[in-house]
Amino acid sequence: MRLSSIRLAGFKSFVDPTTIVLDSNLSAVVGPNGCGKSNVIDAVRWVTGESSARQLRGEALEDVIFNGSRARKPVGRASVELKFDNSEGTLGGEYGAFSEISIKRELARDGGSRYFINGAKSRRRDVIDLFLGTGLGGRSNYAVIEQGAVNRLIEARPEEMRQVLEEAAGISKYKERRRETENRIRHTRENLERLNDLIGEVT
Ligand code: ATP
Repeated sequence: MRLSSIRLAGFKSFVDPTTIVLDSNLSAVVGPNGCGKSNVIDAVRWVTGESSARQLRGEALEDVIFNGSRARKPVGRASVELKFDNSEGTLGGEYGAFSEISIKRELARDGGSRYFINGAKSRRRDVIDLFLGTGLGGRSNYAVIEQGAVNRLIEARPEEMRQVLEEAAGISKYKERRRETENRIRHTRENLERLNDLIGEVT
């Protein structure tokens, strides 16, 4: 799996639609201070399901939408699309057979965010599921190494370090599924208890 392009529109400083093509295994983003290098990294985190505004260096989730400059008015929506070369079939599940996978996220100022996988409307959970175990999955995403990340890893508590190792070993996907199943079991138990109470009242 290799990230082959990033398309941004209305996202942070990228107000006009911009496509960044990454056509080799090693790419570098260079430019003067404040030109938007970190915004590109934020875009990758955002599409892959980041839901914390702080992790995206903002205060609110809408802060990712272009909020105007001296020359341009703010815009109403942000969108980012990542395309992955999946010719080796690393991204599995129902998408395993696709040689290219596109993940898109859109956010409007007046509404929630929408996710698309290969053009089909999807849930955040589907996107997170797709990437779990690839290094871009969930909270222990280690494929994006931003400033300070190496230090954070060196200083990480054992539980945090374990999360990263579990993502690298591909275990986090199964832990996440177990957590969801346990939640469902808990809800079903609560519903059953409520049902038994009701049956007790009417009999
Ligand atoms: P450095 O080299 O200093 O780390 P950088 O190239 O990584 O800088 P970024 O932090 O990616 O730069 O970009 C900062 C720029 O993005 C600032 O000019 C800021 O005003 C702009 N910016 C961030 N969010 C928005 C937004 N929502 N709307 C418009 N511009 C934004």
